[in-house]
Amino acid sequence: MKALALPWSSAVVALVAAIAMPFAGASLWLAFAVLVAWLASLWLARPEPEIVQVRTEEGSVSRSAMIALVEPFSVPVLMLDQQRIASANAAAREALGPHIVGQDARVALRHPQAVTLLDKPEGMALVRGLTGARSIWQVSRVAIDERFSLIELVNRTAEADISRAHTDFVANASHELRTPLASIIGYVETLADPDAKVDPVTTAKFHNTVLRESKRLQTLVEDLMSLSRIEAEKHEFPREKIDLGQMAQTIGSEVAFTVGEERIILETEPGVVSGDRQQLDQLVRNLIDNALKYGDAEAPVTLRVRRDNADVVLEVQDRGEGIHPDHLPYLTRRFYRSDPGRSRAAGGTGLGLAIVKHIVERHRGKLDIASKLGEGSIFTVRLPLVQQPVLPQG
Ligand code: ADP
Repeated sequence: MKALALPWSSAVVALVAAIAMPFAGASLWLAFAVLVAWLASLWLARPEPEIVQVRTEEGSVSRSAMIALVEPFSVPVLMLDQQRIASANAAAREALGPHIVGQDARVALRHPQAVTLLDKPEGMALVRGLTGARSIWQVSRVAIDERFSLIELVNRTAEADISRAHTDFVANASHELRTPLASIIGYVETLADPDAKVDPVTTAKFHNTVLRESKRLQTLVEDLMSLSRIEAEKHEFPREKIDLGQMAQTIGSEVAFTVGEERIILETEPGVVSGDRQQLDQLVRNLIDNALKYGDAEAPVTLRVRRDNADVVLEVQDRGEGIHPDHLPYLTRRFYRSDPGRSRAAGGTGLGLAIVKHIVERHRGKLDIASKLGEGSIFTVRLPLVQQPVLPQG
């Protein structure tokens, strides 16, 4: 029940005075009448509850109605009374902390761009570092009337990250393309220069270099195209039923034929997955290729496929130097190389593992990289097993 809104201490004084009056000789009726008049005047003089009206162009709304209106918004919204934060919706309390309600907005937002915005009745500003060092918020202020205003905050961090990743990618790709191109142009110019008088042995060497660099360019363009194709299809789950064990066996035998039987150990059992044949083929080849490139040239690479509960597990294990733990989290980034010189010398593009990661994601699988320095690495891919229907016997 709601407490009666009376100034209770004054009421007690009135009561005590009314009780004392008959003792001082006043009649009981007079004391009672004075008490009633006193209490009535206290009741009439009680402070009115604060119902602040916010005037809009259409009329006026109570402040509490306005607060209730912005509460469910998914973007943070603050209501300012002059410069004081009168209320903050759930999204704003989560982003900036519940303590901001009641604070001066210039203190709560405390960034030069935000403070400049708060000096104006309306406007928009991009504020960096409001909720984390890398965060970027678009802060807009709209005046409701001369006293109240709304501040809306839109988180632009993810957009900025994507745009930065795009810029980095274009810069890296251009750099990777420019290096072999510059080398090709340099050698061809020398060969074409009659004054250079290049002897036949050097000419043959130059031709070889031009061919090698052209092939590097071709591989790079092919990898870039693969990556963009896989990314374009990343939301389409591939439906072809593929026996990964059989596929790995075929690829492994083919590679063993080229690099020598002793370099590949095959341990495969059947395991059907739902997949894209070309992409799974590329995934297996990229992992074997890396194991051969970065593992010990004398030691074998093991290619395993086994079923494990609801998964088909593919493992590619090499014996060699291994990978330093510092590099492990970044290996699947585009153009990341733990040893750039070695990767380039081996014809690497720095995109192989990024392609593997995207293929695994499209197949709703999981990629794990485990490595021990001085021992070697194991790249493990888990894909969901497709349960084959059991055919009736006989
Ligand atoms: P690259 O074309 O350079 O091989 P990848 O994306 O396939 O590019 O691999 C990225 C980097 O990860 C390589 O440059 C190499 O430093 C490291 N790496 C990949 N596989 C292995 C492995 N099996 N053993 C050691 N390092 C590896």
